Amino acid sequence: MAVSTNYRGRFAPSPTGPLHFGSLVAAMGSYLQAKSQNGEWLLRIDDIDPPREQKGATDNILRTLEGFGFEWDRSVLYQSNQLTRYQEALQYLLEQKLAYPCSCSRKSILEKTGQTKGETVYPGFCRNGPLENLSEYSIRIRCNNEFIQFDDAILGPQSFDLEKMNGDFILQRRDGYFSYHLASGIDDAEQGITEVVRGADLLNCSPSQIYVQQTLNLTSPQYCHLPIVLNETGQKLSKQSHAKPIEIKESVDLLYKSLKFLGQMPSIELMNTNNEEIWNWAINHWQPERVSKK
Ligand SMILES: [Zn+2]
Repeated sequence: MAVSTNYRGRFAPSPTGPLHFGSLVAAMGSYLQAKSQNGEWLLRIDDIDPPREQKGATDNILRTLEGFGFEWDRSVLYQSNQLTRYQEALQYLLEQKLAYPCSCSRKSILEKTGQTKGETVYPGFCRNGPLENLSEYSIRIRCNNEFIQFDDAILGPQSFDLEKMNGDFILQRRDGYFSYHLASGIDDAEQGITEVVRGADLLNCSPSQIYVQQTLNLTSPQYCHLPIVLNETGQKLSKQSHAKPIEIKESVDLLYKSLKFLGQMPSIELMNTNNEEIWNWAINHWQPERVSKK
């Protein structure tokens, strides 16, 4: 292997269930971006939401990735071991008045703003102090009319109005769990990730995570959002849409299909080979410009 570039990518599944084809595509896209540049590829387990996690899912994910021939660099980072760091960051943001306690429930926000269920935009009712006295509060970030812009490697220039998109979003839930935006924003930056490659279903998370990094004076990575895998009825593959778990015994077939999904053109003979040959071919022939924008 040539000397490594400074590229560092990552794959960061949540242990809410087994990996499906959509997860495989995301893992493969990030792996190929890293390995084709002689970079590092880190594995992180985003296990900060125990109520949503499934027993045994982490082991299952690690075993499946291994069985598909993924080789990660360094040791696996578990977000559940990072709670002290998240708390410290939260404390800093509270002291800087960049975050504040909020007493609003989801229901009261919907009522007050006239929004319907789904994505809620929080217009900052508690910015000057929580409206109600509670024993526990959620903690929100103050978004100060920020526009977040970045140049996505596949989708091109992106621009988001945080205030309009989600308003002051949650950093810590009332039940004490830290939000995905806070944890991933911190870890991506502090693990020295140079490019986050993931499904476009997470495109709307990127501006919030970049904003978290900015408020904490951390350097943001580059972003690259891959097309989303849909099932026959047009739904995104996910645990909610009952996506089929990927099986190691089908690894060659699924790696091949995943390459095709990413717009690559593996020859049909590769289907009769093994994981190693597919990876060799894929790393040597990876052309990110072939990945569809849709
Ligand atoms: Zn509030």
